[in-house]
Amino acid sequence: MNDALAKSAAELDRIGDGSQPAVSSDLSYPPIERPRASFEPVAMQHFLDGEHRPVRELVKQIVTQPEFRYFAGTDHLAFRRQVLAWTKRLADAGIGRIFMPKNFGGEEDPAKFMAAGETLGFHDLSLLIKFGVQFGLFAGSIQRLGTESHHRKYLVDAASCQLMGCFAMTEIGHGSNVQALETTAVYDPTHEQFIIHSPTFSAGKAYIGNAASDARLAIVFAQLAIGGEQQGVHAFLVPLRDESSRPLPGIAIEDDGYKMGLNGVDNGRIWFDHIRVPRTALLNRFADVDSAGKYQSQIKSAGARFFTMIGTLVGGRIAIAASGNSAAKAGLTIAIRYAARRRQFGPGKPPGKETLLLDYPATQRRLMPLLANAYAVDFALKHLVALSAKTPDGASRAIETLAAGLKAWSAWNTTRTIQAGRESCGGEGYIAANRFAALKADTDVFATFEGDNTVLMQLVAKNLLTDLKDHLKDLRPVQLTGFLLNKKMSGFTRTMPLFTLNTSRYHLLDANVQLSYFKHRESGLLLQVGGAFRRLIKNREMDAYTAFTRLQPELLELADAYVEREILERFTAVVENASDRTLHTPLRRLRDLFALYRLELHKGWYLENGVMSGFKAKAISRLVTALCADLRQDAVALVDAFGIPDSCLAARIAL
Ligand SMILES: Cc1cc2nc3c(=O)[nH]c(=O)nc-3n(C[C@H](O)[C@H](O)[C@H](O)COP(=O)(O)OP(=O)(O)OC[C@H]3O[C@@H](n4cnc5c(N)ncnc54)[C@H](O)[C@@H]3O)c2cc1C
Repeated sequence: MNDALAKSAAELDRIGDGSQPAVSSDLSYPPIERPRASFEPVAMQHFLDGEHRPVRELVKQIVTQPEFRYFAGTDHLAFRRQVLAWTKRLADAGIGRIFMPKNFGGEEDPAKFMAAGETLGFHDLSLLIKFGVQFGLFAGSIQRLGTESHHRKYLVDAASCQLMGCFAMTEIGHGSNVQALETTAVYDPTHEQFIIHSPTFSAGKAYIGNAASDARLAIVFAQLAIGGEQQGVHAFLVPLRDESSRPLPGIAIEDDGYKMGLNGVDNGRIWFDHIRVPRTALLNRFADVDSAGKYQSQIKSAGARFFTMIGTLVGGRIAIAASGNSAAKAGLTIAIRYAARRRQFGPGKPPGKETLLLDYPATQRRLMPLLANAYAVDFALKHLVALSAKTPDGASRAIETLAAGLKAWSAWNTTRTIQAGRESCGGEGYIAANRFAALKADTDVFATFEGDNTVLMQLVAKNLLTDLKDHLKDLRPVQLTGFLLNKKMSGFTRTMPLFTLNTSRYHLLDANVQLSYFKHRESGLLLQVGGAFRRLIKNREMDAYTAFTRLQPELLELADAYVEREILERFTAVVENASDRTLHTPLRRLRDLFALYRLELHKGWYLENGVMSGFKAKAISRLVTALCADLRQDAVALVDAFGIPDSCLAARIAL
């Protein structure tokens, strides 16, 4: 090998491990083509960043330091050590304190905390999850489920990582069905202690983040029993390890080892053998046990108590939805920039200048709807964050429903986006340094943890049915008929035949028309499934559980229709209210594409239900293709506006 080649090879080696941001020009791809966009990317970035721009900048400044260079080895134990050190760095910068009460040096600003987490989603996702486990789940639960004495004793140390902890809810036997957990917490009035115990193998806590090596204290969810009476699932603080990180007597911990992704996080299983903790170890905000062993709670029903407790944890779901969307944005940035520099095939034999991937309608069709989704999810989540900040406990049914739905929708969208991005980069997409390997592996589980997506979508549908029932029970028969008719026709006016046949561009790009279709699908499904449910349980022929289970496919579709209508409504409001008018055109195009692409996707339902003609369905498809082409000019600027630091992207294809 001559000197020049040896030098180039050495340079490429360094790029391969992500440690070098640039290659010499003769060995790199042609530059990314950046046509003049219809707007300023910086203006769009500021618009997306919103009021929490300073904390987003702070997080970016931290994760672009040399010590935050991506871990490139395969030794997951070394990776864990790296991620722990990074987490401590974030704590040192005060990021872990943002959510805490002001009297403990915090800022009590969950929206700002969420913005920090969302920005971390651009960097390493093991770090994001470790951050989420330590500050969101562990410290956050002490704050939300505990009271003043717990805050005083633990919060400052948890926020500074002096005290590492974990959130131990899931068990080997029960994940989604939390109410059926087997771990017991039996009250011993003589010693004023709870005895925490795993009575079976399947009562072992499973997949618990921070459990395998770092956590010294666990928040353990267990069935509380006092004097033989069951009080349901409650949360307890249980020490796991001593100062030198050895498991305490009676605690058995098993390392989950190497995982599909997120290998910088130490997940593990935990079993408890009659561990005694003091009465004060109960996180007692919603229920308490007094020294005489008397159980007290303001919330009388055990079911309502459980859901109030779980409702306070809604922030975790929003965080997963938002950081998943950040990962999707990273995938889109890499894929779109690569498509703006990569050429394949062309006219003529041999071809002269080959065609840019981004100029192919197939590429545009593959990536632009996903770009629109990333913006759409962003706006919907900002709305949800604002709503839940106004409802401190996040416990309202409306918030719970929206958080569950958006978490599931966003997580699935992330998986689809990253896969599409990977494929559109061809072989480059498969090279680890180009980020897709980690993005795919790390975000895959977003569909499972913080509530399994399919289970969450059923929760959404159940809440929608409950809302409908609550609404109907107060109506007199004549009002009921009016309500049902109104719902059935929801969004559609008396000009219905014109609606179904109208294929004009003007009509299809009308935000009200688009929304009408979304509302019609949602209310149509709601009435259909609500009616079917009522028929099944009528005269007690079937119990509610069996009827609900029988209707699962329809319920899941209803939940999807609800989430998409929520997203579109929010997107429309954002377009209408954007004070920077220079952003109006790209935002409107993205909104139109989001709406029409979903209409195209669900055209089967609309056709079956007679609210869309075949001609109209075809016109929508043509318009989707046209909108994808319209966005091509702005595509690179639209991903630049995500503001992802270069060091978080793929050096050899995206910079
Ligand atoms: C990497 C990782 C980290 C985690 N970290 C933590 C942590 O720190 N703390 C913690 O407490 N937990 C944690 N978990 C656990 C996680 O929250 C659970 O895995 C999740 O809640 C799903 O539970 P499960 O795995 O038991 O799946 P299951 O509930 O058994 O679900 C398995 C499948 O069955 C389907 N299913 C279940 N119920 C129904 C139904 N009624 N109808 C139709 N389909 C259904 C689901 O959709 C899913 O596809 C973690 C998990 C992983 C993988």
